[in-house]
Amino acid sequence: MNFSFYLPTRILFGKDCVAGNKEELGRLGTRVLIVTGKRSGRESGALQDISNALDSLGLKYEVFDKVENNPSLRTVEEGGRAARRMGADLIVGIGGGSPLDASKAVAVLGTNEMDPMELYKNVYPHKPLPVVAIPTTAGTGSEVTPYVILTRDDLETKMSFGNRDLFPVLAFMDPRYTQSMPWDVTVDTAVDALSHAMEGYLSKASTPASDMLAMEAISLFGRCLPDLEAGHVEGETREQLLYAAMLGGMVISHTGTTIVHGMGYNLTYFKGFSHGRANGVLMAEYLRFNRGHAAEKVDRLLRVMGLRDIEEFDCRMRKLLPADIHLEDGEISKYASITMKQKSTSRNPRPVTADDIAGILTGISRR
Ligand code: NAP
Ligand code: ZN
Repeated sequence: MNFSFYLPTRILFGKDCVAGNKEELGRLGTRVLIVTGKRSGRESGALQDISNALDSLGLKYEVFDKVENNPSLRTVEEGGRAARRMGADLIVGIGGGSPLDASKAVAVLGTNEMDPMELYKNVYPHKPLPVVAIPTTAGTGSEVTPYVILTRDDLETKMSFGNRDLFPVLAFMDPRYTQSMPWDVTVDTAVDALSHAMEGYLSKASTPASDMLAMEAISLFGRCLPDLEAGHVEGETREQLLYAAMLGGMVISHTGTTIVHGMGYNLTYFKGFSHGRANGVLMAEYLRFNRGHAAEKVDRLLRVMGLRDIEEFDCRMRKLLPADIHLEDGEISKYASITMKQKSTSRNPRPVTADDIAGILTGISRR
C-alpha cells in the first residue's frame, strides 16, 4: 500500500446542526459574505438559519445571491469584489455544487485581486478566506472537496481548479435543507453522487481508503434507488443520499473523476443537461468500455449496488433519467476532442483515445 489521505473539513451532520453549533461561526470570522443562488438558500431554509445564527452572534454579513447553475468566471469575479468591498474574513456558501464551488472561488478572489483566469494557476499570493459550506443538494460533495468547476467559454466546456487551501474548513450538513429540491434535481444530484463514487472507485488514482468510502456510497445509492424510482424520497432516504454524496466527495477529493465527468461537461455546455443527468446518461456505456480492464471492480460495484449486471444498470438508469439524445457526427468528434484535453481523462482505468470517447458518445446517441 502506498497512498495519502487528507481531508481537513470539519463536518457537522444532522438536523438543526447550524442552530446547534452556531458558535463555530464566531470562531471563524467576524465579517461574513454569504454566497448562494436565487432559490437554494431561501427555499431550503438554510439562509434563514445562518442569518439567525449570525444575528444572534452579532456578526456582520452580506448576501451575494447571484450564483447561477454552472457558474461563470464573471460571477465569481463579482462575488470576489463584493467580498473585498465589505472586508469579508469568512465566506459561507449555501446551495448545490454551483454556489458551493463559487464560494471557494470567491474565497480566493476575496484576498487576491486578480483576473479570474488566474484562478486556474492554483497558486495564489494570499491565502484564500476560510469557507463554510452548507449543501442544499445531495450530489456534488463539494462541501468536502477542494475543487471549483467553472464554465470556460473560451474552451467551450467546464474546467476545474483547486488546491488544499480550498477545502471548506467546516460543513454544516442538515438533510432538511435538501427537502425543497425540485424532483429532477433530487434525481440528478443523487446520480452525480453515484458517479463520483463509481468513477473514484475505478480511477487509476483510487486508494484502499477511497475505495472503502466509494463502496459505502455505492451501497447507499443502491438502497435509495427504489425510492428514487418510485418518485418518492422521505426524510431517512434524504439523509442517506446526503451522506452518500458526502462520501462521494471524499472519494473524488483523493481520486478525481474520470471520463464520465469530462464527457458530461459537453452535454451540459452544448445541450443544457444538468451536471448529474449528463453523467448519468453516460455511465452504462462507461462501465461497458472499462469492464475489460477492471472486470473485478466493475462487477463488485454492481453487486454492492444490488444489481445483476451492466444491462440491468443500463435499463434502470434509462428509466430513472429518460433522455432523448441525438448527436451529429461533427458534435461527437468535437466533444471527443474537448474531453481528451481534460486532466481527468488520464485517470480512466482503460487508456482512452479520442476514437474511444467518440464510440461511447455514439453509444448514447439516439437512445
Ligand atoms: P446546482 O447547479 O447547484 O443547483 C441546481 C438547481 O437546483 C438550481 O436551480 C438551484 O437553485 C436548485 N436548488 C438547489 N438546492 C435546492 C433546494 N434545496 N431547494 C430548491 N432549489 C434548490 O446543482 P448541483 O448538481 O448540486 O451542482 C452542480 C455544479 O456542481 C456543477 O457546476 C458541477 O460542475 C459542480 N460540481 C462540483 C464538484 C466539486 O467537487 N466541487 C463535484 C461535482 C460537481 P439556485 O440556482 O438558487 O442555487
Ligand atoms: Zn459531479
